[in-house]
Amino acid sequence: MKVYKFGGASVRNADGVRNLLKIIGDERGLFIVVSAMGKTTNALERVFAGVQRGDRQAVAGEIAALRDYHAAIIGDLWHGPVKIGRVEAFFAELEKTVSRRDYKPADAELWYDRIVAYGELISTAIISEYLAYAGVPNRWIDMRRVLVTEQRHKDAEVDLAASAPRLLAEVGGCEECVFVGQGFIGGAPDGTTATLGREGSDYSAAVVAHILDAESMAVWKDVDGVLNADPKIFPDAVQIAELNYLDTIELAYSGAQIIHPRTIKPLQNKNIPLYVRPFGDKRKPGTVIRSASAPVEVPILILKKDQVLLTIRSRDFSFVLEEKFAAIFSLLERFRIKTNLIHNSAVNLSLCVDDSWHIDEAVAALRSEGFDVMKIGSMELLTIRGYTDELWQRHACGPQVFVRQATQSTVRIVRKS
Ligand code: ASP
Ligand code: MG
Repeated sequence: MKVYKFGGASVRNADGVRNLLKIIGDERGLFIVVSAMGKTTNALERVFAGVQRGDRQAVAGEIAALRDYHAAIIGDLWHGPVKIGRVEAFFAELEKTVSRRDYKPADAELWYDRIVAYGELISTAIISEYLAYAGVPNRWIDMRRVLVTEQRHKDAEVDLAASAPRLLAEVGGCEECVFVGQGFIGGAPDGTTATLGREGSDYSAAVVAHILDAESMAVWKDVDGVLNADPKIFPDAVQIAELNYLDTIELAYSGAQIIHPRTIKPLQNKNIPLYVRPFGDKRKPGTVIRSASAPVEVPILILKKDQVLLTIRSRDFSFVLEEKFAAIFSLLERFRIKTNLIHNSAVNLSLCVDDSWHIDEAVAALRSEGFDVMKIGSMELLTIRGYTDELWQRHACGPQVFVRQATQSTVRIVRKS
């Protein structure tokens, strides 16, 4: 069995779906993991934001636009308007969900998952139906019933041991079958829908590959492979032919949008190679990620946006460090704030963290525990692995740089964005 993952950009229109069919060709023994089409997840996040604000008009407008968008893709694929039962049912469920009046801010993450999961449910319903129509018999799998997550929302981890028997039961040893399942979603132990964090479909695919002992996993993307930098930000980016698992985790963690950071572990555990391949051209080799790959020779630049710099000091000038570390981090964990860089001096602890809905609550809580906290928003974190003098000059100096942390090979820079 092979696992193929198709991202939202690849299936953003009917041509993309037809191309997916072309990539599958006459291959069988495939588990296909698909994301929401195009920018659907962003639109569903706006639906959720509308529910948060109680703005029913905005919610209705967003859902109407999503209906039109998917109907246009269906119309193009079937050469005329067609109603797909499952798609209709999912839109009806989504509408019913957003019309409920019991939204509570304390349950923001639960509601987010409830709403945002429809992107993948709808995309896979369309793609499964289209594959069947085009002569590829397949089985649509409801990943909410198959991938059991921890009891957490919006950024849940999959429980491999609990999920394995369920997935194996669904797939039932059919080596020649084609399966179509949603990326990004699973079911929490209490039966509610859980999502795995933005871009989490890669992680879903890796979990499937792990459980099914797949021979390989391929992520079909709208790039030629993994690049050493985001070409939209660093124009002289080049492609990397091979990466090892460890480097890939480092890159993903630093914010390289190659793949979701949790993707590697399930693959590495079973030594399953991961191919990052261009969706537009099946003949190109892309990038392969596996344990035996040689270290990368070009510098790698990764920019992580939407960062906040917190500078924490204890009010009595006692050393922040030794005694207070544990308290600070467990407080941040309580508010689910992700720390990306830690820098400390005798009395200061500087943390570069992801911006979050709960950041102000966390700052207030830190203050009430006796810390002075300075918060600076609109920051970004640039990581350069294998930096050169020239890159150092260009990026690590200048007034907008707030923190600079360097080892022999890697420099990390927190700067105003
Ligand atoms: N649709 C989700 C997102 O856009 C998951 C994914 O694409 O992997 O984040
Ligand atoms: Mg996506």
